[in-house]
Amino acid sequence: MEIRTFNTLTNRKEPLQPLHPGVVGMYVCGPTVYDMSHVGHARVYVTFDVVARFLRHAGFKVTYVRNFTDIDDKIIKRANERGVPAGQISEKYIAEFLKDMDTLGVQRPEVQPKVTEHIPEIIDLIQKIIARGLAYASGGDVYFAVREYAGYGKLSKRNLDDLEAGARVEPGDLKRDPLDFALWKAAKPGEPEWDSPWGKGRPGWHIECSAMSAKYLGDTFDIHAGGKDLVFPHHENEIAQSEAASGKPFARTWLHNGFVQIDNEKMSKSLGNFFTIRDVLEKVEAEALRYFLLGTHYRNPINFSDVALADAELRVDYVYETLAKADEKLAGKEPTAGELLDKEKVERVMPAFEEAMADDFNAAEALGALADPFALLNELAERPKSKDKAAVLRTLARLRKDVDLIGKVLGLFQQDPKAFLLRRRENKAKARGIDGAMVEQRIADRAAARKAKDFAAADRVRDELKALGVEIMDTASGTTWKVL
Ligand SMILES: [Zn+2]
Repeated sequence: MEIRTFNTLTNRKEPLQPLHPGVVGMYVCGPTVYDMSHVGHARVYVTFDVVARFLRHAGFKVTYVRNFTDIDDKIIKRANERGVPAGQISEKYIAEFLKDMDTLGVQRPEVQPKVTEHIPEIIDLIQKIIARGLAYASGGDVYFAVREYAGYGKLSKRNLDDLEAGARVEPGDLKRDPLDFALWKAAKPGEPEWDSPWGKGRPGWHIECSAMSAKYLGDTFDIHAGGKDLVFPHHENEIAQSEAASGKPFARTWLHNGFVQIDNEKMSKSLGNFFTIRDVLEKVEAEALRYFLLGTHYRNPINFSDVALADAELRVDYVYETLAKADEKLAGKEPTAGELLDKEKVERVMPAFEEAMADDFNAAEALGALADPFALLNELAERPKSKDKAAVLRTLARLRKDVDLIGKVLGLFQQDPKAFLLRRRENKAKARGIDGAMVEQRIADRAAARKAKDFAAADRVRDELKALGVEIMDTASGTTWKVL
């Protein structure tokens, strides 16, 4: 399968050609752990979780590295506010982040390195850059000499003179040129510090990703990814540091996801218009949030709203209702007899999915392509038009299997449908103050009325429950209900 992907570095869509055939090394910038993660974080890590899953589905052996920035100004500030060590803040929010990611079905990367556990590698890398004449120590700081490195600006397509015009020198900076950025910062009182050849201090932000990607993936590797906001300066600086140190090309393909927006403005901590993942999951199913995030191509902005989330939740409910019906009808059987109904359409399900995903990981299109097969699955599970029972079962089983495989790649639809629907029903009933035992009692009353051929009384029960927001469904295995 040829996978084509948009590369920010070359500014075009091109085939993904790993350095070593069959193997993909991928580095994604992880969170700075000083607070709860918001929906913008959810988008980054769901996006690249699906990228990694699809690459594995396509047969690649993937090494996925996602770091934790566990030392940084914001972490130190938060620690000082709370009067606790910085490590206590970062460990707490690493645990909260992983909890959110687990809830969202984001698989853990192979390597999750922390900055504070890679200080020797960082110091080593800085020394290499100094030895090549591209960085200099000043006071207890070390700076990267941007004008000495020829390729600066190639990712973000910026030129040095424009950057120089906008650059500021903060008081206390000891740089030779406003464009230069810190690789190492001298210790300030009250901050965590490490010994270095330049005195006590701590790493600058950008250097960590250069050091950790080199350690786990090598100087040159296949995919580097992150949110679009990281293109400049973070990723630009990573390239400069890494290529300055090794003299070799850094990441070959750069992927960047678009922002989550509210009212067409970027959701961000600094603008104050953000929702934490935890807040959102109080109100909607985790899988609905994941479905919503995958419903827009990863490079485009996505508009976050209650309405869009509610739509996603309805869709996810519909999928599970369909799967529950299909599972009941199949009852664990794997029918091999009979012809496939709608053969052409059914046989296109997997190829259509793979083609959409191979075209720059277009999960939105892949989900769209599932609408038709779902409608067919629903029809076959509920009231098939075909009278050919063997063909119905065979087709049903085939579609069920494809949905499962596609769901595995997207990280969707993997829960037991019956258990999912029961849990949804309990949650919704609780939220609306509907007493489940009462509903069950009224369903029993209705069954008794029907048995006594008092259909008017039976219909009254149905209407009365409907007025409460409860729909009852008569199925082959008895009467069941759901909250509308
Ligand atoms: Zn990074």
